[in-house]
Amino acid sequence: MVDPSRQAIAFISDHADPAAEIGMEEAGGQNVYVRQMGENLAALGWHVDIFTRKSNANDLSIVQHSPHCRTIRLTAGPETFIPRDQLFEHMPEFLDNLQKFQTKQAIHYPLLHTNYWLSAWVGMQLQQKNNVQLIHTYHSLGRVKYETMQTRPAVAETRLAVEQQILEQANCVVATSPQEKEALRSLISQQGQVEVIPCGTTPNFHCIPKATAREKLGWHPQERVVLYVGRFDPRKGIETLVRACAHLKEMGTPHLKLVIVGGSSVERLDGPERKRIETLVDHLDLVKQTHFAGRIDHNWLPWYYSAADVCVIPSYYEPFGLVAIEAIACGTPVIASKVGGLRFTVIPEETGLLVPPRDVDELAVAIERVLQDELWAKKLKKQTSHPHNSRFSWKNSAMQLSDLYRYILARSIMHDQPWNPKISRLPGATDPLRIAAV
Ligand code: UDP
Repeated sequence: MVDPSRQAIAFISDHADPAAEIGMEEAGGQNVYVRQMGENLAALGWHVDIFTRKSNANDLSIVQHSPHCRTIRLTAGPETFIPRDQLFEHMPEFLDNLQKFQTKQAIHYPLLHTNYWLSAWVGMQLQQKNNVQLIHTYHSLGRVKYETMQTRPAVAETRLAVEQQILEQANCVVATSPQEKEALRSLISQQGQVEVIPCGTTPNFHCIPKATAREKLGWHPQERVVLYVGRFDPRKGIETLVRACAHLKEMGTPHLKLVIVGGSSVERLDGPERKRIETLVDHLDLVKQTHFAGRIDHNWLPWYYSAADVCVIPSYYEPFGLVAIEAIACGTPVIASKVGGLRFTVIPEETGLLVPPRDVDELAVAIERVLQDELWAKKLKKQTSHPHNSRFSWKNSAMQLSDLYRYILARSIMHDQPWNPKISRLPGATDPLRIAAV
């Protein structure tokens, strides 16, 4: 039931289930984003329904996160895990079930916030039929992703077309960093409105004394701990980090320990990337120095960040990169690739260092500098712990998003006519798919 005094908004997050375990193969930043934005927007007076695909038959169909924020899992294809690249053909069913839910519950959402390109496609179909305001957040860009792939998936052309169309047709696109906005303008289109609203962290990401955190985790005080937190995805560049650590070991760095957080801790599929990284660790004779911690709950992560000497984000691309601000909020210096939103969140020589992506030698030098130069590392830690550097909070992000929604809804009423986007065909979408969807 929706409280009639609240404005209802729908988040669409096709594959990223906000109620799922974060850190496993395809669950990461987007899941955190929709959950945190949803809950914080509900606290600001909205009613937020987050629609996602049901990927496990045993999962509940509705998960209530707080009194006015819930996740609704819709059937779209078999109720089992399906990789993102194979989900497009199930989006018409997702759309159909979303509309059925709305009719059954008699809810109208004047504002849709879509996340990722598959959701953008769903949002655009709804926008064609209803007077709704459409907001979109990309989370990942096909144009960037495909640059690093040797073979593009069959759905690539459709994705690229949808990503251009949503930028030009949505009432507003929310970029999470100025760098993402820049990328949208230079790689996708000059048309359409883009506003920057950064991501945040929750207050539980805070500094814990290193010795206390190490004791809690059973880590030795002498160890020099290099931490990675995130999914196993080739775009994350874990290979570069492993190679840099092997280099450091060769150079004689004492007490080196690499902790890799993310993925599954039980016998479940993490995809081929985990296997590939494990093989590499073995091949580089780094098994003794490496600990695969598996998926760690968000509530436990502050202990890991606080216990580490340095957190490394070796990604090839990041629109934002939540891990950077989480580590910084825990007072841990970050060494990150000089790409995307990491150039926004990591301040070189103040909260960490930026290095070129894929550059094993430069990364090794940067890690060595933090591990060896104790005085500088202490200064860095002190600066990182400064409240000024914990400036990102989900509460603030949701407040900015709430203002944007209000502005867009007010603008639509003032214009007193439905948004009338230029409707064009989606290349790659077959006719039966379109007929089924609209
Ligand atoms: N994360 C987690 N447990 C893990 C691994 C990752 O909670 O074991 C969380 C991490 O804290 C962060 C998110 O997953 O909030 C990853 O977001 P990021 O933006 O860094 O990467 P993305 O997944 O969007 O590529």
